Amino acid sequence: MNSLTRRLTLPFVAFVVAGSLALVLWIGVEERRQSRGQFSAMARTNAAFVRSQNLPTSERTAQALGEVLGVRVYFLDALNEWTPNGPSWTKSSAAEYRALPVDGGVFMPETSTEAAVASIAQGRSLVLLRAAEPLTEFLSRPRTLGVLGAFWALSIALAWVLVSGIVRPLRGFAARLPHIADENSEPLPEASRTDEIGQLARAYDSTRAKLADERRAREQAERLATLGKMTTGLAHEINNPVSAIKLHTQLLEGEIADVHGERLSIILAETAKIESLVSQWMFLARPQPPQLAPCDLAVLISASVKTLMPAAAHANVEIVNQLVPGLAVNGDRRRLAQAFDNIIINAIHAMSASGGELKIECRTTNENGRKYIVLFTDIGAGFSTTAIAKGTELFFSEKEGGMGIGLSVTSEIVRAHGGELRLANATSGGAEVSLHLPALN
Ligand code: ADP
Repeated sequence: MNSLTRRLTLPFVAFVVAGSLALVLWIGVEERRQSRGQFSAMARTNAAFVRSQNLPTSERTAQALGEVLGVRVYFLDALNEWTPNGPSWTKSSAAEYRALPVDGGVFMPETSTEAAVASIAQGRSLVLLRAAEPLTEFLSRPRTLGVLGAFWALSIALAWVLVSGIVRPLRGFAARLPHIADENSEPLPEASRTDEIGQLARAYDSTRAKLADERRAREQAERLATLGKMTTGLAHEINNPVSAIKLHTQLLEGEIADVHGERLSIILAETAKIESLVSQWMFLARPQPPQLAPCDLAVLISASVKTLMPAAAHANVEIVNQLVPGLAVNGDRRRLAQAFDNIIINAIHAMSASGGELKIECRTTNENGRKYIVLFTDIGAGFSTTAIAKGTELFFSEKEGGMGIGLSVTSEIVRAHGGELRLANATSGGAEVSLHLPALN
């Protein structure tokens, strides 16, 4: 038996034993009080009978009454004398009987005898004697057994409540506690309880959530460290040839723009993509605090839309930008543009199979300070349940060939601006990415 059960069992058993004894005693005393009440009432009724019938207080009357009542009956006269053949022990104490109130109930002239006295007339009393019932006599009575049975049933119910309400949940906690940091650990069902067990379960759950956050942050940091090492080397290797390609292409633009202008601009657009990719890697590997300056979200988003219009047109995606200039924020233009590009590119990818529409709109909220909520809603297949939960984790990707960097970078950028990125699905089913950014006052 484990120690809490043992600790609870000992006082509980003591409580049940003491409670049972107290109950038996109480019932015994109560039963005897009732029985004596009846005995005293019997004396009074028969005294009244003798008086009303004007019966002689002779030994014959006493004997006749005794047979009917099943007790010994005597009369006590004004001289404190018993009727003939009265009990010899009573003679010495007859005066004491007389001194008692006539309807004074029951007393015990001897340890095993109970006497009830009732007045018949002035100086003449009826005395009933019977064998006293010991307290133990009442033990086996159905009422005693019934009350005891009910008390034990209640005690068992109480024990069950204690075990199922306290001991069992505590055992559950003890079993789960060593696994609190596991990835698949579950919240405790007792968290909804309002008592101390509920408090304990909520404390367990919040610790579990904190540990999970810390684990995710640690894993992210480990991934970033790996990426950082890779990126620094790679960026150097890539940036040099890309810069050279860009420079030479720009030189060629001056010389052969009229013949190959379109191709040269494709080369420049592709090198810009490579530069943007490398810049994302570098941001992840060595995040820098944003270079904040007042800027207009609508202007930045219009610029991103313009840049990505060819890619959208290619995928048959229409971008409906409903933003109106005047959405001032304190932001890092380059970083914010990168965040918007990532969201728009994802939406284009999500609808590339059969085309669609990406709507960009903005709401303003004054909850916890003035904020802009920029909503990007597409009509693709929407986020999977896993993507909603883990979409902003680094390297999470469900796309073939995807790297799982875009939303992670976007979320970091938004966070660095004191905002928040939220992933959801619109009622239409498509993805709804919202950026909550503090407005510039
Ligand atoms: P990647 O695009 O390389 O997969 P992201 O971080 O940009 O990486 O996106 C992570 C995942 O989020 C995607 O693989 C995809 O499952 C999901 N996702 C992002 N944008 C959308 C969208 N507009 N619609 C549906 N799913 C999306």
